[in-house]
Amino acid sequence: MRKATQFWLEARPRVPEAIAGLEALANDLFYSWDHGVRSLYARIDLRLWQKVEHNPKLFLRRVSQDRLDEAAENPAFLTEYRRILSNYEAYVASEPGSEVLQALDPETSLVAYFCAEFGFHESFPIYSGGLGILAGDHCKAASDLSLPFVAVGLLYQQGYFIQSIDAQGHQIATYKCHSSDELPISPVERDGKPVVISVPFPEREVHARVWQAKVGHIRLYLLDANTPENSEEDRALTLQLYGGDATTRISQEMLLGIGGTRVLSELGIRPTAWHINEGHAAFQILERCRQTMAEGLSFEEALEAVAACTLFTTHTPVPAGHDIFPRDLVAHALWPYLEASGLIFEKVFALGDRNQTDKFNMTSLGLRGSRFHNGVSRIHGRVASQMESDIWPQVPPEENPIGHITNGVHVATFLAPEWATLFDIQAPNWKSELRNPEFWNFVDKIPDYHYWSIHKALKQQMAEFVVHRLKRQHKRNGTGYSVTKRMTEKLTASDKDVMVVGFARRFATYKRATLIFSDLARLERLLTNPDRPVVLVFAGKAHPQDNPGQQLIKVIHDLSMHPPLMGHILLLEDYDQAMARRLLSGVDVWLNNPEYPKEASGTSGEKAAMNGAVNLSVLDGWWGEGYDGSNGWAIAPRDIDLDEEFRNREEARDLLDLLEFEVLPLYYDRAAQGYSEGWVACSKASMKTITPKFNAQRMVMDYVWQYYEPATLQGRRLMADNGRLARELASWKAKVHQAWGGVSIKVHGCVTDQCTWGDEVGLEVEMELNGLAPEDVRVECVVAMECSGAHSDPGSDRFLLQPVKNQKGKTTLFSTQVKPPYPGLQTLRIRAYPYHEALSHPLEMGAMLWV
Ligand SMILES: *Cc1c(COP(=O)(O)O)cnc(C)c1O
Repeated sequence: MRKATQFWLEARPRVPEAIAGLEALANDLFYSWDHGVRSLYARIDLRLWQKVEHNPKLFLRRVSQDRLDEAAENPAFLTEYRRILSNYEAYVASEPGSEVLQALDPETSLVAYFCAEFGFHESFPIYSGGLGILAGDHCKAASDLSLPFVAVGLLYQQGYFIQSIDAQGHQIATYKCHSSDELPISPVERDGKPVVISVPFPEREVHARVWQAKVGHIRLYLLDANTPENSEEDRALTLQLYGGDATTRISQEMLLGIGGTRVLSELGIRPTAWHINEGHAAFQILERCRQTMAEGLSFEEALEAVAACTLFTTHTPVPAGHDIFPRDLVAHALWPYLEASGLIFEKVFALGDRNQTDKFNMTSLGLRGSRFHNGVSRIHGRVASQMESDIWPQVPPEENPIGHITNGVHVATFLAPEWATLFDIQAPNWKSELRNPEFWNFVDKIPDYHYWSIHKALKQQMAEFVVHRLKRQHKRNGTGYSVTKRMTEKLTASDKDVMVVGFARRFATYKRATLIFSDLARLERLLTNPDRPVVLVFAGKAHPQDNPGQQLIKVIHDLSMHPPLMGHILLLEDYDQAMARRLLSGVDVWLNNPEYPKEASGTSGEKAAMNGAVNLSVLDGWWGEGYDGSNGWAIAPRDIDLDEEFRNREEARDLLDLLEFEVLPLYYDRAAQGYSEGWVACSKASMKTITPKFNAQRMVMDYVWQYYEPATLQGRRLMADNGRLARELASWKAKVHQAWGGVSIKVHGCVTDQCTWGDEVGLEVEMELNGLAPEDVRVECVVAMECSGAHSDPGSDRFLLQPVKNQKGKTTLFSTQVKPPYPGLQTLRIRAYPYHEALSHPLEMGAMLWV
């Protein structure tokens, strides 16, 4: 018998007038952090809500008319609905605070934030991991603060892959197409027509249409190549995040950087500060140069103007995070665009070139096309300064212009609602005190039993979630009933509380997911001790092209099926934001043991801490600043010059020592009340010290003060009077470049080696300026305490040498009187560097000569 063809028909319900606001709420990513909004949908139909994976738009398409009608007539539901809707309306109507207004006037300033991925919520899967979640959190905090802010990214039809782990421990990657009408976006239209921009590509134009996502106060614009103007092949350009080959990647990056800038121009949006969040978006520099050149500036002059209002953030020291394209590919891909724009290939290539390797590095482009740069933690700022030091070849790395702002996380998104409710009672205005560490001492006032009961409830929810997901994945894999039972029984035993340790993040090798297995016999003894058992929960995706990363999954899988450890090691598939929220808020200990110094910041430990989980981590990234001796445990990384195997072994031993002698004894030191007072004290210390320092509002305000405001001012200054200073600076730099090779410096006369404390000593140097004027250089003496090595300390230990008046002769003399700032032995070092008052950073030219 022939089977009949099936046709799909979706009969969408009508949302009753009384609850019509549910549609508006589904179209604002406000729902991604407001638990109240999400709970409205869950109340209408919990099973469907779970089935549609917490996607409000999809939910409203699939929910039955009866359920909606019932809700619209249920007084309790209506009360809740009205409360939440008015909450939302108040949020959207709120104005920026005085701190923001003082730094960035919304009438005249605007920050544009470009990133290749954004992780707002599991229902909007255009992220892969930490970078995307961070970008989402940045936007959410910008919205909370009502910052003048707009974000730009790409809409990936399939996004990142969906992960399953099969019975052999292999990762299977599958992709699912998301139609735009199930995502929280709407088409951007002008005069009733969709906005489409285009970018010249080899032998064609590639078009992109534009979508917008509402994120509370701010807008995110997304470019989408899947539009009928494009060929089939080009329509697939924005299919996947981090998919395809190098050609796909550079094409995506051209769309993001060049196309993204065109979208803003097309919509009449004129940012005053531009934030390039990681190298993927750095091509925006070229398009902005092109636009500025249209105002009559040369490429060099335009670059000065563009760079002056641009911030570049680098996010990882790991090579895979930096796009490096071969010259041929760049030439081929960019040529038509450059030709149409009047940009010269060699000049553009030089911006991305690194030590004449003939490769184009997007990080170098980002750094050379911006005057503000940062890493994402104190340690990473230093590491990035070292790594990128050849951009400023003569400047000591510790003094080059790369600063740091430590990443923070969006509290409302990641804090479990149970905690938020408790805070509402204990400290009603906690939401406006997120940047006040003193305020957070209120956590100590929460009675221990109450504090612990919340943790226990969240842990219970986490356990149920883990068991449910494990059963689902093992049922599919055909795992037997008795095995699944053994696997889950530690978490389901209601009579015995077991310590749970979480480890979930991307399976990149530097994160060393399997470090804890270095001494398997010892680990087995620790985990299976009947008096103080432990369950380790792992989850994470490995990039489909990262075989060593996938190997880690296999190792963990195999151990999880290994009889003595069964039930003590659990591996969950398809880590996403929903799973992150569950695990982070339910585990007792959050483990992170990356290879120092490769964890630029890491953020999941911050999320765990604000939910009362205690961190056990290598002192790298944010934990290097977060750990204070009382709020968790730290593994001190061994010197990076030591043998890698040795470091791994030693750090693994520290990890097991900490578990055996500190973490487990404290956790299981229970009195009659059923919990450990010492543990609760540690957990509270973690929550109260970490929440106010490592949240996204603190981070975004740091960006405002350190970068957005200065970049706005600097950009304005250089472009005033038709770009007068930009032009002057460009020609001054050209002059310095010409002359610098012939500039020299030496001591004139001799330097005193002794004086009496309180006296001054005279210093005189002689410079050959090779055509530069004395005002074109700054000559300074850096005085440091002996042995401190701190010649980079700013302020009191620097003495400026002034040109001596009325000189004759070929060379120029500079002199000063130095009053030794320290008693005893100190070092004096004298140096000269080019200086112009229009520079954004005194050392931005990277040129410096030492005596
Ligand atoms: C926070 C988060 C990350 C980042 O985790 P790290 O441990 O900081 O690398 C990755 N994925 C998801 C879903 C997250 O929520």
